[in-house]
Amino acid sequence: MMEKKASDRYCLGIESTADDFSVGISTFKGEILANIINAYTPEEGGIHPREAARHHAEVASKVLEESFIKAGIKPNELAAISFAQGPGLGPCLRTGATIARALASYLKIPLVGVNHCVAHIEVGKLQTGAKDPITLYVSGGNTIVAAFDSGRYRVFGETLDIALGNCLDVFAREAGLRQKADMPFGAMVEKLALKGKMLIALPYTVKGMDTSFSGLLTATVNLLKKGKFKLEDLCFSLQETAFSMVTEVTERALAHTEKKEVLLTGGVAANKRLQSMIKGIAEEHGARFCTVPSQFAIDNGAMIAWTGILAYEQGMVTPIDKSFVKLRWRLEEVEIPWIR
Ligand code: AMP
Ligand code: MG
Repeated sequence: MMEKKASDRYCLGIESTADDFSVGISTFKGEILANIINAYTPEEGGIHPREAARHHAEVASKVLEESFIKAGIKPNELAAISFAQGPGLGPCLRTGATIARALASYLKIPLVGVNHCVAHIEVGKLQTGAKDPITLYVSGGNTIVAAFDSGRYRVFGETLDIALGNCLDVFAREAGLRQKADMPFGAMVEKLALKGKMLIALPYTVKGMDTSFSGLLTATVNLLKKGKFKLEDLCFSLQETAFSMVTEVTERALAHTEKKEVLLTGGVAANKRLQSMIKGIAEEHGARFCTVPSQFAIDNGAMIAWTGILAYEQGMVTPIDKSFVKLRWRLEEVEIPWIR
């Protein structure tokens, strides 16, 4: 995190697409002054959108205050407010959007709606120095292989059903593991997988450039319930199978585009085994492997602040009456005029 300078201009970004409520503050030069993330952890079961939205509303003022303290600036020093306009869960998106609209109106500064997936790529580039990567974005809600071409980020491959992170999370829950604030389900599966020795045959589903994880999840849960295999071996096999699928698709996109960088981001990017697989294919193709530091790989406000700046500098602002949230806003729908 950087110090502020007298000549700096700032944007505050709000992320609230799913389970995390986060506020980031960035200078127009891309120095991140604050990135406060407050995660909603359900007592049991998956994310209930309305419960998560209630969490976001409850923690919002605290997170905003902390971010101003951390950045060492006052609200009236901001030049713009950006927010994740989509894709995501309706109630969660609407909570963040309402706060962003209120702040922008009160401070009389522009509002900038940002696509969450674009923001993951842009902050990844900012943090790693990657210029034009193939990106593998794997999180609780998304599994996307994308790269820039002709004015937009193009989706080369994606999941046809659930996201990779969601697959790991549901399996962990079925196995009776209990999520903690500092230990997400995916990290628990990773830890158990390190002790696994046996590779159990599981459904490997790549269709064209797309992946599917629901059959894999069902098969792994069924084997778990039969009780014939050790949990460690199931975690190991689930990881090996699921990670090989996304690695295969990423490698094909890399071979096709001949890009010189591979960017791994999203919450699942923290996984060391996945990192080593993606690093392996990057090296084979003479590309640089770039992985994003965890606080900028998971859902975070800094990525929204930074992407808001990139858009704002191109004159892209979002009038309040057009700032409705877009639950299914696809990555390739967004024009990216800041890349030439
Ligand atoms: P995000 O959706 O980007 O906020 O990331 C959350 C997702 O990342 C959840 O599905 C987590 O289980 C997953 N995750 C976090 N740490 C790890 C890890 N070490 N290995 C695999 N998945 C992880
Ligand atoms: Mg999250």
